[in-house]
Order: sequence, then structure tokens, then C-alpha cells
Amino acid sequence: MSESTHPVSPAKRPVIELRRVVKTYYMGEVEVNALRGLSLVVERGDFVAVMGASGSGKSTLMNIIGCLDVPSRGSFWLDGVDVRTLDEESLAIVRNRKIGFVFQSYNLIPRTTAIANVELPLAYGGVKGRDRRARALSALESVGLSDRLEHVPSEMSGGQQQRVAIARAIVTNPSLVLADEPTGNLDTASSLEVMRLLSRLNATGRTIVLITHEADIASFAKRTVRLRDGNIIEDERHTAVDAPPPRLEPGPGLGPLIGAAVRSSTS
Ligand code: ADP
Ligand code: MG
Repeated sequence: MSESTHPVSPAKRPVIELRRVVKTYYMGEVEVNALRGLSLVVERGDFVAVMGASGSGKSTLMNIIGCLDVPSRGSFWLDGVDVRTLDEESLAIVRNRKIGFVFQSYNLIPRTTAIANVELPLAYGGVKGRDRRARALSALESVGLSDRLEHVPSEMSGGQQQRVAIARAIVTNPSLVLADEPTGNLDTASSLEVMRLLSRLNATGRTIVLITHEADIASFAKRTVRLRDGNIIEDERHTAVDAPPPRLEPGPGLGPLIGAAVRSSTS
């Protein structure tokens, strides 16, 4: 990977640029170095699978990229913005507007309907009333769940809950989707469904960073980055950044999503 500075032209700016990032956790007297000088550049439109053994630093990396945590040392630019210059409030705005999160355990609000869960990031973002409802509906439609709007998480399968979580992640039309082992709790059929959705999202221009243990899941990405002991030990590109994702299939489900993306990016 080149260490040179990136071109400043916004169109060519990497979405993610980490330089020699160190993350140290302190547990009483004990220092844990979760990241040890890691550098990573991710271009717009890329689909990156992050692999590595448990404890290698994958979630720490994801939390830093997602502005949920900050580096102890080193630098991090997100969309050309030096994240170190942002205060808590600005970080929260960046998280809400630019990033969609998908977690292994779905992290839906219990006893709250699918539609209300998906409306939540819009509510935080100040989107109100009919517009909010319409966008949440469109996002749920795009993941094939228009018939589950009023179901609460406990009334849905794991695969359905993860699709609600994906709808929630994309309803704000973020440029970056971060997924930490999104298929970790799912059976094979639901895992494939989730990966199909992520492939379609990438094909509509979103950058995706996906953490996974499984080679079969990583094979949906364009590039595989492997971590060991808080550093990158392997970085392999399988598919060009501007090419369609390798396992994209035609299929139902994202027509409305593409429309939603176009509408909300112009609003
Ligand atoms: P992975 O997601 O690859 O399993 P993590 O990023 O969760 O790895 O953890 C990397 C290392 O940092 C591990 O040794 C872990 O125990 C440690 N670690 C992670 N989060 C914390 C924390 N909040 N406090 C202390 N140590 C942590
Ligand atoms: Mg982890």
C-alpha cells in the first residue's frame, strides 16, 4: 500500500484513511495494544472484508472507523475530514449522516416495531412526519420486509431482524456501511440473503467494510484485509474498486432502495 498523501480532489478522496493508528486499552496496570501502527486506505466504492483470529483487533478497527472510538495515536481521516478535530457532537453527526452500522447481534430496540426501529436514525437526524415514514417504508421494502412493518424483533427470525438492521443502516443513505460479523448468528440461507443485500448496496455506490471469520462470506468482497496482533499482515484485491462486486446477482429487492438513494441524496 502506498504511503503517499492522497490527491485532495474530493471525488478521489479515500473514504477511509488511517495512518499508523495505535489503540491501547488500559485494564488497571495492564496495557493491551489492540492496534499497533495500522495503516489502511479505502477508496470510495470499495467492498472490503476484514478477517483475522479473535483478538486480532477487528472490532477495535471497526469502532475507530465508525467514530465510536478514537485512536490513541496516529491519524484518521473520514471522507477527507481529520476526525481528531471533531468534538463529540460533530462525531455524533458524522456517525448519523455518513455511516450505517450492522452488528452481529442486530442491536434492534426490543418491543419496538420494525418500522419504528428503521425510523430511529432519521428521528435523530431531525427528519419528521410523513417523509420519515416514507423513507423507512422504502428501506424496509428494499430488504423485502414490507409485510413485517408492525412486527417487533422477538416476532421475527434472525435473518429478518438482520434485514431490519440493514434497512436501519441504509435509511439515512450513508456513504459507508460498516458490518461487524453480520452473518455470525445466521443460518446459511439468511447469511446469503444478507450478503446479497450488501452486494446490491455496494453496486449502488456505497463503500462497505465487513468483518467476517468465514472465507465464503469474504468472497463477496472486492478486497480482503487480514489482521494479526493489531496489524495488517495481508491485503489482497480480488475485484477492481469500480467493478461490480464479485458475487452480485440479479434479483428482487433493491429496486426501491436505489430509488430511495437517488431521492434522499438530492433532498
Ligand atoms: P477482534 O474483534 O478481532 O476479536 P478486538 O478488537 O475486539 O478483536 O480486540 C483486540 C484486543 O483488544 C484483544 O486483546 C481484546 O481483549 C482487547 N480489547 C478490546 N476491547 C477492549 C476494551 N474495551 N478494554 C480492554 N481491552 C480490550
Ligand atoms: Mg470482534
